Amino acid sequence: MFEKFCPRAVAHTLTEIEPSFLTERGIRGLILDLDNTLVEWNTKFYGQGVRNWLQQARKEGLELCILSNSTAKRVRNITNELNIPGLGRAGKPWGRSFRKAMEVLGTAPSQTAVLGDQLLTDVYGGNRLGIFTVLLIPLSQKELPTTRCVRKIERWLLDYFRARGMLKGVV
Ligand SMILES: [Mg+2]
Repeated sequence: MFEKFCPRAVAHTLTEIEPSFLTERGIRGLILDLDNTLVEWNTKFYGQGVRNWLQQARKEGLELCILSNSTAKRVRNITNELNIPGLGRAGKPWGRSFRKAMEVLGTAPSQTAVLGDQLLTDVYGGNRLGIFTVLLIPLSQKELPTTRCVRKIERWLLDYFRARGMLKGVV
């Protein structure tokens, strides 16, 4: 039960993931969540570590696309600075937004990974389409009040998966 909400792998941070962990699985494109994955919620500050990691991932041949439920304008500001494509107002977890991102990446679901901090949007949306999903620990505790409520459901689900040995680390 609840398998569609279970990430295929879990990591503390983006920078902890070796790009080769993904490429060895035949993955060629990454769908990246923005808030609390690349930047702290509702800020535009990302660490040098994140920037370096994105560069490294590209060097290893991975295509990148940011997919966020945040406003298109905010996403554009960040993607312009990082010089990678991005889609805002995505409406995750609905499939249409993930399909659009895969069009940008030029990848099939089996060649794509989603990296994000939310089970009910990033992980569920990716799993439904057969995309490899990686859950990251949120960068900060700050987020929308509605997201804080959702976190209670997430905690319950994570406990459920943990108790059944369903959570796998990437390292
Ligand atoms: Mg997020």
